[in-house]
Amino acid sequence: MSELDISNITKDYGSSRALHPISLTVERGEFVTILGPSGCGKSTLLRILTGISQPSGGEIWLGGKRIDQTPPEARDIAMVFQSYALFPHMSVAKNLGFGLRMKKVARDERARRIAHALDICNLAGLVDRMPRQLSGGQQQRVALARAIVMQPSLLLFDEPLSNLDAKLRDTLRHELTELHRRIGATSLYVTHDQAEAMAMSDRIVVMNAGKVVEIGTPLELYRAPKNAFTAGFLGQTNLLPVVAEGVQGCLPWGTPVSLDRAASGNVQVSVRPENIGIRTDRAGAGTVSTVYFMGANALYSVEIGKYHVRVSQSGVESLIEAGAQVTLDFLGPVHLLNDVCSAEAA
Ligand code: ADP
Repeated sequence: MSELDISNITKDYGSSRALHPISLTVERGEFVTILGPSGCGKSTLLRILTGISQPSGGEIWLGGKRIDQTPPEARDIAMVFQSYALFPHMSVAKNLGFGLRMKKVARDERARRIAHALDICNLAGLVDRMPRQLSGGQQQRVALARAIVMQPSLLLFDEPLSNLDAKLRDTLRHELTELHRRIGATSLYVTHDQAEAMAMSDRIVVMNAGKVVEIGTPLELYRAPKNAFTAGFLGQTNLLPVVAEGVQGCLPWGTPVSLDRAASGNVQVSVRPENIGIRTDRAGAGTVSTVYFMGANALYSVEIGKYHVRVSQSGVESLIEAGAQVTLDFLGPVHLLNDVCSAEAA
């Protein structure tokens, strides 16, 4: 059995359903991220996991025990919040010791666990500081240490990096990944930030509109998403209609492409901008509408008929200017999605 098993959890608010049956598992030591846009039900699911809110249906099992009816304080779960939620009137050491004292952990064991957590969270010199004397990054490290000392069966993270500036977010993301590698705590991380999810997770659960859309490793979901929502939410992509026959297909402007699996009729493909080549060609069907030079790569938006195709070119030595006529080369087979194109224009 998985360490965490969420089985058919639903949540209704009156007549509106916030969570359709949600099922997912986290294996022992695994780092799983729930990724989805605002309003998709992430907080609702977190509140149900912690016990603050009751599910309308379904079961939650943690460490072989059913916990969905267990009071919050009796669930073996520790949470790291977006807002840190440190006790403002307690020093770092007291913040870390509070939960352990509540659980009546013996003094020696408390001291040992606190020293260890301070050490692995790089907080050794800050033990007597009050939260107001710490930077945002240090406060978040204390919040993490406070969760780790509890040695919970499950560590829950609620968008813990979103209050930090971009550089610090990068640093802490790296530290969190390192830390997870060392302590191997079973972790469920919630975020709307796809870059964070891709960089940190063993597996990602993509959610939308109260449903699990798709579950997979970052590589699987980026390279071979099953549906358009996942393809568009994880990185940039071009969703294009194709008329298929076997593994051959034809783009709306007549360019032939090969597909990564056989299909027939009207289908939809996802092509990452980095998998499209671009070259100037006076007879080309495309016109460059915008050019963004990003340093490591250049991003072009190319108009072909009513379609806008995004192309990323790396190692650029000279840029193609807006207004230029271009031909696009579709490198390798394009990825066929399970859902048929709903919009005519991409
Ligand atoms: P997320 O955390 O992904 O932004 P939420 O879990 O907060 O999403 O919300 C999911 C859906 O449930 C939203 O449509 C939201 O409006 C609705 N919702 C959340 N809490 C309540 C509530 N207490 N009463 C009614 N609807 C709610």
